[in-house]
Amino acid sequence: MLNRHKVAEETEQAHTIDMRVKIRQLLESFEATETMLTPQELADKVKLELEIDDEDLSNFTYIEAGNVLNQSAYEYVKKEDRIVLIPHCLRNAEKCIAPIDDEGYHCEKCGACIIAEITQAAEDRGIKWYMVGGGSHAINIVKNARPRAVFGIACYDDAKLGVEKVGEYGIPTQAVLLSKAGCVNTEVEIDKVIATLDLPDSSD
Ligand code: SF4
Repeated sequence: MLNRHKVAEETEQAHTIDMRVKIRQLLESFEATETMLTPQELADKVKLELEIDDEDLSNFTYIEAGNVLNQSAYEYVKKEDRIVLIPHCLRNAEKCIAPIDDEGYHCEKCGACIIAEITQAAEDRGIKWYMVGGGSHAINIVKNARPRAVFGIACYDDAKLGVEKVGEYGIPTQAVLLSKAGCVNTEVEIDKVIATLDLPDSSD
C-alpha cells in the first residue's frame, strides 16, 4: 500500500516536471514569435494552449512568463550589478545564528540550511545577496541598493509583488519560486537557484 502511494507520488512529480518543461518551451516559443506581450498575456496564451487550470502550474506559468520576457535585459547586466534576494523563511529557524539589521539577516554560513549554499554561490559569482523578510522589505532593499537587475527567490505572492514593483522601476528581474512555501523552514530547488545565478553576462 505504502509502495503504491509512493509510486503515485513519483508519477505525479514526474508529470509536474514534464509540464513545467513544456510550459517553459511554449513560453519561449510564443515570446520569440509575438511582440509586446505582457507577462499576464503570455501566461494566459500558454495556459490556454496547455489547458492548465491547476493553481500551482498557473502561478508557475505567470512567474516563468516574467522570466522569459525579462531574460535578455537581465543578462545584459553585469553580475556585479545584480543582486539576489533570499527569503529568511528558508533559514533553519531553530539553529540560525545570523545577526539582523536594516539590510536583513546576515548569514554566517553555519551550514544548518540551504542559505549557506546560496550565499556562497552568489559570492563566488560576484553577485551581492540580501536575506529579506518579505515583499515590502525586499522592495526597500531594492530602493536602497539600486541594483541594475534583481533575482528573487520567493513564494508566489511575494514573487508576483516583487517582480511587478521592481519592474515599475525599469529593473529586469528573474524569479525562482519556493518549492515548499510557508512562514518557516521553507524549501527551494537549489539547481534552479544556481541556474539563475549562472545566467550569462552578455554586456561585454
Ligand atoms: S546557514 Fe546562514 S541562514 Fe542558514 S541557519 Fe546558518 S546562519 Fe542561518
